[in-house]
Amino acid sequence: MKSFLFYLFILFFCCHTDAQSNNFFKKLLDKKKITIVIQPFDKFPQASANYIANQVKKVYSGSVVVNKPINFPINSLNSTRSRYRADSLIRFLSKNTSSGFLSIGLTNKDISTTKGKYQDWGIMGLGYCPGKSCIASTYRLKGNNQLDKLYKVAIHELGHTQGLAHCPEKGCLMRDAKGKDDLNSLHSFCQKCNAVLTKAGWSLN
Ligand SMILES: [Zn+2]
Ligand SMILES: [Zn+2]
Repeated sequence: MKSFLFYLFILFFCCHTDAQSNNFFKKLLDKKKITIVIQPFDKFPQASANYIANQVKKVYSGSVVVNKPINFPINSLNSTRSRYRADSLIRFLSKNTSSGFLSIGLTNKDISTTKGKYQDWGIMGLGYCPGKSCIASTYRLKGNNQLDKLYKVAIHELGHTQGLAHCPEKGCLMRDAKGKDDLNSLHSFCQKCNAVLTKAGWSLN
């Protein structure tokens, strides 16, 4: 019995001093963190996709990668061929997103969803709440700081994928835009929203 315990102790001790084992456990822990995939659609500029990726990298502790642009999926244009259906796009992205990943589509085109009596309500972004995909569009963004605004839309939609609903707090990035671009008045996540994101590996102020 004594020698058995000693043997166990040796085994235990070995495990804790073995660098390879440490790496193994580290990899297991890292694996848990979701990788965010930036997916540009059509002719969305690569430089803008990289900008969004770099901004997200500043606030997310997991990996962030930028994919090559892809065509819009067939049938994602609305009946009048004026807007792309955001719900179709996030469904498409979700279907093509493996577990352990989270996709955000980026586009310059107008996107829409059905809202009440409006069949094609133009929006800046849409995301599953919670889920593994969302999309953000520059089309409805006004002014010179379009990329900064796109980042705010992107982070809002990513917030939805993490389970955050719309927030009534003034200035909080999770406020409902209600179709209007008042992104200049949004600066950060409120304390409550921030706490949810911090748990998921985000570090936003
Ligand atoms: Zn929203
Ligand atoms: Zn909030």
